[in-house]
Formats: sequence, structure tokens, C-alpha cells
Amino acid sequence: MRIDLHAHSRASDGTQTPTELVEAAVSAGLDVLGLTDHDTAEGWAEATAAAVATGLTVVPGMEISTKHGARDVHLLAYLPDPSHPGLQAALTEVLEARTSRVPAIVAQLVAHGIEITVDDVLAVAGGPAAFGRPHVADALVSLGVVQHRDQAFAEWLSSGRPGHVRRQSAQLERMLGLVAEAGGVSVIAHPWGRYGSQGLAADDIAALVPFGLAGLEVDHQDHSPEVRRQLRAIATDLDLVVTGSSDHHGVGKTNHELGCNTTDPEQFERLLELAAAASRRSGRATPVPVPALPRRPT
Ligand code: AMP
Ligand code: ZN
Ligand code: FE
Ligand code: FE
Repeated sequence: MRIDLHAHSRASDGTQTPTELVEAAVSAGLDVLGLTDHDTAEGWAEATAAAVATGLTVVPGMEISTKHGARDVHLLAYLPDPSHPGLQAALTEVLEARTSRVPAIVAQLVAHGIEITVDDVLAVAGGPAAFGRPHVADALVSLGVVQHRDQAFAEWLSSGRPGHVRRQSAQLERMLGLVAEAGGVSVIAHPWGRYGSQGLAADDIAALVPFGLAGLEVDHQDHSPEVRRQLRAIATDLDLVVTGSSDHHGVGKTNHELGCNTTDPEQFERLLELAAAASRRSGRATPVPVPALPRRPT
């Protein structure tokens, strides 16, 4: 079983439609794909429909933008009911902040002499539910300002660069609570990817467990072998599920090919059991992996 639990489509900042993403996952030899667009369930219906009769199982999820103190934390939420009123309202706030940030970024770029318009961004983005800096990056590429997304981030869009605009997001503990109420399970994406252990130390992770944290994404391209070893030890200590995933964005992010990291089948099984328990506790109509996975012999 090859299980990849973190990938993006054009519903957020991936470059493939959900259907194209599913086809790519089949070609890559995956058995299970988690669709985890930023802050939206928009791509779920198309991806699950595309997966029927392919042999691939799609796990509906999302990567929620949250804050922990001054730090951004990406929270993977698997199988929540996206129509839960509290979760839906919180996600709508984040999505609106993403949309309103686009003209703000464009204005800053224009102030720095770049001839770019909001329409240039809309033209390359193609109507995603969740706008992000990568769409502005793609517009800068289409205008010939930079060669690729990486260069757009390095020169214009990363923190400290002229086009950087902070984005509002929900508080991590609050979001953990909402995901649980919506019957989903929470896994912290690339916990030490960008800032090392500075932002989210072992103690901080332990303190999140009572709020419903169920797992850590240990195997991720942003983690060195040593970071993976340390995070695995923390997960074992706290009895958290360990996942591994590509964080694929189509051609939008290099070195993140589908299946470049995978999740151990036993860990995946645990994640599904926790999701089933969370679903029962919540009383919500939560989604299921599609097509359903064969029951393991007991
Ligand atoms: P945003 O959600 O608008 O803050 O943008 C963050 C997104 O940009 C994340 O999904 C990252 O994967 C992506 N990203 C960050 N840095 C880069 C980069 N250097 N090249 C391509 N994508 C990036
Ligand atoms: Zn992204
Ligand atoms: Fe992320
Ligand atoms: Fe991601």
C-alpha cells in the first residue's frame, strides 16, 4: 500500500484540477491519496468522483491555516464535516482574508514598479476557492517578471520582501476544537519545516493533545533525517499517529512529487479509526474515504 496524505489541487494553489491530480496519483502507483487543499473542501466531490474505478482511494481533507502565538501552523484535518457551522464560519473567514489579500499584494507590487493587475492573478488562478501567494507568483511568471514560483517567493512574496502581506488565520487550539466538533482528525503538517523546533517545541506539541491533536506529519520534504528522527520520537512519546506525505502542488513546487514520502499502512489504519471515533462523538455526517477501503481481516 502506498499512501500519500497531503496534496493540493487547483481548488487552492496546486496546478492540477482534482481530476488531473487523481490521474497523476494513479500513474504514480499510489493506493491512497489525501486531498488537502488550503482551507477548503471545494475539490472533494470532483476528486472522489474521478477516483471511482481507478483503484485509488481518496481521503477528503484540508490543510487549515492557523496561528500559534506569532507563528503560522498548518493543520491537516482529515474527514471533517465541512458543513459544521463553526468550522464553516472559521474557514469562510480565512478564505475571505485570502481573497482580499490579492489586491493588497498587487498594490504593493505596483508601488514597487511592477505592472501587474488583479486580473492578471485571476487569469492564472482560474477561480480557486483559496487564493494564495502562489497564484500571484504564477502571474509574475506569466508577465515575465520572474522565471518560476520559487523566484517569485524569494524576490517578492516571502516575509520581508516587497510584496509580502500578512494574512489573518484562526487560532490553532480553537481550530483543533472545531475539527473535533466537526468529526475530523487533526495532524500538524510539516511541524518543523520552516522554523525548525523554534515555533512548536515538544512541550507545545504535548500541550495540543488535550485539544484533539492526533498526529504529526513527520516524513515531509522540509524535514531533514535528523528532524524526522526527533519528531518520530516525540510522536511515539505522545502516542500520536505518524504520517508521511508529498505536499504535492503539481508543477508549482519542485521536489514534492506524489509518493516522495508515504504513510505506513498501520499508521493510516489508526488515523481512520480515530476519524471513525471522532465522527461518532460528533454526531455529524462526516465524509468517508472513496471508494471505501477493503476491511482488513481481523
Ligand atoms: P499562502 O498560503 O498564500 O501564505 O502561501 C503559502 C503557500 O505557498 C504554501 O502552500 C507553500 O507551499 C507555497 N510556497 C511557499 N514558498 C514557496 C516557494 N518558494 N515556491 C513555491 N511555493 C511556495
Ligand atoms: Zn500550498
Ligand atoms: Fe503547508
Ligand atoms: Fe501543503
